[in-house]
Amino acid sequence: MFPIPNGCGPLLRIQVVVAHPDDETFGCGSLLLHACVAGATTAVTCATRGEAGEVAPGVEVPAGGLGSLRESELREAAAFMGVRRVELLDFRDSGMSGDAGPLTLAGADPAEIRDAVREAVDAFGPDVLVTLDGSDGHRDHAIVRDATVDVGGELGVPVYLHCLPRSAMRLWAQHMETVDPSSTYLHLGELGTPDEELTTVFGTREHLPARWAAIRLHRSQVSPFEGLPEEVASAFLCAEHLVAVRPAELLS
Ligand SMILES: [Zn+2]
Repeated sequence: MFPIPNGCGPLLRIQVVVAHPDDETFGCGSLLLHACVAGATTAVTCATRGEAGEVAPGVEVPAGGLGSLRESELREAAAFMGVRRVELLDFRDSGMSGDAGPLTLAGADPAEIRDAVREAVDAFGPDVLVTLDGSDGHRDHAIVRDATVDVGGELGVPVYLHCLPRSAMRLWAQHMETVDPSSTYLHLGELGTPDEELTTVFGTREHLPARWAAIRLHRSQVSPFEGLPEEVASAFLCAEHLVAVRPAELLS
């Protein structure tokens, strides 16, 4: 059973806090499916509508804009994964780089982001918070991670970072070398979290078909698993890899 903090009894409420629609599925989808099947109540809090994302080839953006399309994809995927509550925090997607306006995550006052996350956490009352570890280089992921860790610390709620294990990233890099030797990621050195630093790893292979189905509900986005050989995709999708960050006294 994913992860049961010492002394908290059965885990009932898990809140995933992310920056963009698709982070909950591309990142934490197996965890959400696992939690649903295990009887936990889950919530997804998403800080933006992913307005700055790229659009998958062949996808037409409706008049309402990419943000509204991605919000609807988020809600559909979350419902498919049994998520009980979806909330958006109304910041704007900062994009990977460049100038960020005051309404974006990168342009907003960090205290304002923390307040918004705290309000969402207060409203749901989770036993555990989960967020992406931000190691993929997207600034919004790191900003949401920092806010979530701070709020978990303030409220005494354990926080788990969803990680990309180094062993899986090595498989991915070996594959990328064969298909795209110019990929900038290959020049960044060792990628991912060293496997020995992971605190919580659990198998999720039984949820693989549902995970793929949820991934495909984000039709406007190309998932990072698209086109990967099965053994490489499985390294990411058939287990969840987490690092527990705080508060230490509550973590198993
Ligand atoms: Zn994202």
